[in-house]
Amino acid sequence: MARQPTIEWQVCGTCNYDCSYCIQSKVYRVGHPSPEQVEQFLQFFAQLPKRFEIKMTGGEPFAFRGFMERIIPGLIERTPHTISVLTNLSAPLPIIERFASLTQGRLGVVSASLHLEFTSPESFVEKATLLRDKLDPRAHLTVNTVLVPGRLAAVLAARKIVESAGLQLFPQIMKLGAGTASYSEEDQAIIRELVGKTPTPDRANMAPSYKGRVCYAGVDYLVLLQNGDGFSCRTARRFKQGFLGNVFAGTLKRWESASPCPYDICPCTVPANRGMIEGISAAQRKYQEGISVSDEESIPKESFVPLSRLHSGGLLG
Ligand code: SF4
Ligand code: SF4
Repeated sequence: MARQPTIEWQVCGTCNYDCSYCIQSKVYRVGHPSPEQVEQFLQFFAQLPKRFEIKMTGGEPFAFRGFMERIIPGLIERTPHTISVLTNLSAPLPIIERFASLTQGRLGVVSASLHLEFTSPESFVEKATLLRDKLDPRAHLTVNTVLVPGRLAAVLAARKIVESAGLQLFPQIMKLGAGTASYSEEDQAIIRELVGKTPTPDRANMAPSYKGRVCYAGVDYLVLLQNGDGFSCRTARRFKQGFLGNVFAGTLKRWESASPCPYDICPCTVPANRGMIEGISAAQRKYQEGISVSDEESIPKESFVPLSRLHSGGLLG
């Protein structure tokens, strides 16, 4: 198994969209770090002992001015890390082109979210293809969209447009609270058409269960919030568990060993596609060649989750 050490960093809460199915409630979809806090984040990334992929999310990262002014230049100049981003692709084209140009040689994944409540597939695809032509050639561009119950015919139509431009659509089951949305039989038939029978995590996000499998979340993967709190994974955070410390307080520490997943669903494909989960192959991407950690020998034999990992914590309570 090869692992790509990865940090998912929610750089800001602020977003210029307001999707009805957003997993972040509106009260948390606000704010961004101060210049001093951005500095502390960069300092934290600069002292990491190995190369990580820093996958930035929001909110919408490009909606925070500091993202292009300080964060991207800072990561490039002061760290060796691979840069990835999850974006709704609404930023003006010159800004997106500048991002593509600044990240040459350092870019991992651009995950572009097609939000049909706010944009048309035609204009989205036009921008995505312009971006593709400017991106670092080793980078991976993917177009994702949420499968909203009752609105799947629009997704099928959008897929045609996305695929005819030579891009791939990555469907995502809609998450609700700690679980997933329920779909009518008609919807389920469309979902089967969209994702196939048994999609792998690099083709669709079906929010599967990996309960009991050894997972390196907290070790080589973590989620970092805009307030500096770090959690072992998104599900752990949802259950107010897996707190790793806070960047601003200088207390963030990764766990030293992996442990079995204690959760019923894994809502995000990043840990699976980066090889964090026992038995799930990492997605093969050009940008990862030569920079992942091979750790076949060190899969731990422990079959319990240490109690400390289930304790709550963090500034969010
Ligand atoms: S673009 Fe993303 S973060 Fe913004 S409202 Fe939509 S789903 Fe939420
Ligand atoms: S939900 Fe489980 S499998 Fe997924 S990242 Fe968290 S601990 Fe790992």
